[in-house]
Amino acid sequence: MARLSWSSRKKKLSQHKTQYRGRFAPSPTGPLHFGSLVAAVGSFLDARHHHGIWLVRMEDLDKPRCVPGAADDILRTLDVFGLHSDEPVIYQSQRTVAYEEALRQLKHSDDVYPCCCTRKEISDSATHGIEGPVYPGTCRKGIPAGREGRAWRVLTDDAALTFDDALQGSITQHLESEIGDFVVKRADGLFAYQLAVVVDDALQKISHIVRGADLLNSTPRQIHLQKLLVLSTPHYMHLPIAVNEAGEKLSKQTLAQAVNIAQPVSELWHALSFLRQKPPHELIDENLEAVWEWARQNWRPENLIGLRALPAVTDEFEHRGNE
Ligand code: GLU
Repeated sequence: MARLSWSSRKKKLSQHKTQYRGRFAPSPTGPLHFGSLVAAVGSFLDARHHHGIWLVRMEDLDKPRCVPGAADDILRTLDVFGLHSDEPVIYQSQRTVAYEEALRQLKHSDDVYPCCCTRKEISDSATHGIEGPVYPGTCRKGIPAGREGRAWRVLTDDAALTFDDALQGSITQHLESEIGDFVVKRADGLFAYQLAVVVDDALQKISHIVRGADLLNSTPRQIHLQKLLVLSTPHYMHLPIAVNEAGEKLSKQTLAQAVNIAQPVSELWHALSFLRQKPPHELIDENLEAVWEWARQNWRPENLIGLRALPAVTDEFEHRGNE
């Protein structure tokens, strides 16, 4: 066998070092619906297309929002679709120690401070940002006498934070004026999604994050935390979200139906069609493996460039998710 030249060896080594590791991170607040199936399929195909690893992580941190049995139900549904995690599924509810450690690090570097403000106090004195009230910084210089810290917030600044999304292009946010110092540990003692997701993506060595565009606004907060915790920033690709006729994201709140596990081929075909992959009609009569094989070989995420939301139902097909 011919010896590899230095440049191809180096290339191989660097490919190895930056092995593609993707993930799907559902919150078990209900059964898997069409919108979350799309995120699962998109992240899985992108990983497989790059010969990468694909993981499932249960984001069951927000106990009050979790529905008993939903995590198992989601995993069973993924199984029916042949969507198996390449490594054991991790559960955020069991990873408090890792989040405590990250918070300790942020305290040590003086990047977080305790906050005593209630929701009402904040909304009374805040300006409105892209995701609701912008925290006015009341507790930045210390908690007023006689009050007690309830949550922990991370300091932000107003420098332009820019990242390149594979589909949505260059995204810039000014955290301090658009979002404000945000919560990393909540008043109820639970760690916030923004911190947990950053810690877990880093510990699981996730190199590529493929998820719904509803999380596009969260990404600068996550990059901010990655910088403070000296973690590397993965590549991001935000897929369009599935919306109903009223333009609302399919979710438990908008009463999205569970995917039909009796018809995985048809559901997968519709997910591919939603993702603008143009699956041939004949595929619908094939078995699941054949559909996956076609999808892996023909994965063209560039068909989704610039799209942030798409109807779950188009004229081309009537999807149950939008009834
Ligand atoms: N758990 C989040 C959700 O279900 C997704 C988090 C992520 O992909 O970063 O909306």
